[in-house]
Amino acid sequence: MTVDLSGPLLNSLEKSKEAYKKAMAEGNFELAKEKALECYRILKALAKNVPDYTNVYLKRAKEWKKIAENVERKRVMERPEIETSNNFREYIETLISESHITWDSIGGLYEVKKLMKETIVLSGLRKPEAIKPWKGILLFGPPGTGKTLLASASANGLHATFFNIEVGKVISKYFGESSKIISALYDVARERSPSVIFMDEFDALSIARNGDASDASKRMLSTLLTELDGFKNEKDDNFVLTLAATNVPWEIDQAILSRFPRRIYVPLPDKKACMEILKIHMKDLDIANLSLSEIAEECVKRFYSGRDIANLCQLAIWNMIRDENKGLEKLINLPYEKLKERSLNIRAMEMEDFYNAFGKVKSPLTEKDIEKYEKWNSEYGE
Ligand code: ADP
Repeated sequence: MTVDLSGPLLNSLEKSKEAYKKAMAEGNFELAKEKALECYRILKALAKNVPDYTNVYLKRAKEWKKIAENVERKRVMERPEIETSNNFREYIETLISESHITWDSIGGLYEVKKLMKETIVLSGLRKPEAIKPWKGILLFGPPGTGKTLLASASANGLHATFFNIEVGKVISKYFGESSKIISALYDVARERSPSVIFMDEFDALSIARNGDASDASKRMLSTLLTELDGFKNEKDDNFVLTLAATNVPWEIDQAILSRFPRRIYVPLPDKKACMEILKIHMKDLDIANLSLSEIAEECVKRFYSGRDIANLCQLAIWNMIRDENKGLEKLINLPYEKLKERSLNIRAMEMEDFYNAFGKVKSPLTEKDIEKYEKWNSEYGE
């Protein structure tokens, strides 16, 4: 006779689950791991006891084993001297993005790319103590000029963990606790070294604008400045590069600027760079009939950024697609499988595709704006 143990086992499972949750909330990873393994063992016993649900319980047992492994990883990474709450760490994990951008997919910006590559190489090489690589670089310039791309390429080239942070969002989401977020961010970045931390809209931190920033952002700022001074980094021989980006460098406070001795101007593309960007955004298409030089000249005249050029290409490509695939929208009723059997008609890109597109892409910049960037660059840039 077999004894049905499923009732007591389910009870124990609930208890272990509760204990696991409590231990996690308290940051007691040792206990949490033990409780997760308990859940794993109970579910295995349930799988044996309830033949109808063997597979279900085995699957859940496996999940708990995974949880136990993850907790163990966390436990090893957690250093007792660092006080970071789990919630923050979980949030930080969501800021990690995959980066597939390569240096070749960034048109122009030759000097900028060279500077950034040098910095990265220098950080990695063995060197005398007196030679200190930059820990923070400020990228400034008009919107859409490739600052995010540069940060992504740096991370990708290094196979680094890439943290992509919008400073304004962090401040508004974690208002009173944004300084804890910054500590947690750098803790996780050090653990996952090499790391690249990209801080977009960096100016949101600034107190220069109105002189009375909130206490929260002041605290966040001072934590950040301590991290940028980076003593923890030196001790552990970790690589954490902070790349801060702004479209309004003049709004950044002097105290912050001094922590970023490397300030790199990411300008609008010149004619040669525009031609490269055009090629990048029409990769795999036939562009033999285009006068890239003529299109690039027009882009420069209109103060186009890389983003504007990418949009321009998309519009031109759509023009070609509509031209070659009349009534494309009528295929909407076909099932997806049927759609996959058909292919899009493509022809070579023509200048006409661009004439119309130019009218639809407007740069928000004026000559005066560009002058402002240039002036700031000559005063504060590198
Ligand atoms: P920023 O961070 O300076 O505002 P991004 O790096 O986010 O600008 O660029 C926005 C988009 O514009 C990119 O995803 C890319 O499609 C295009 N782009 C901008 N600059 C370049 C460039 N130099 N080469 C190729 N594409 C670019």
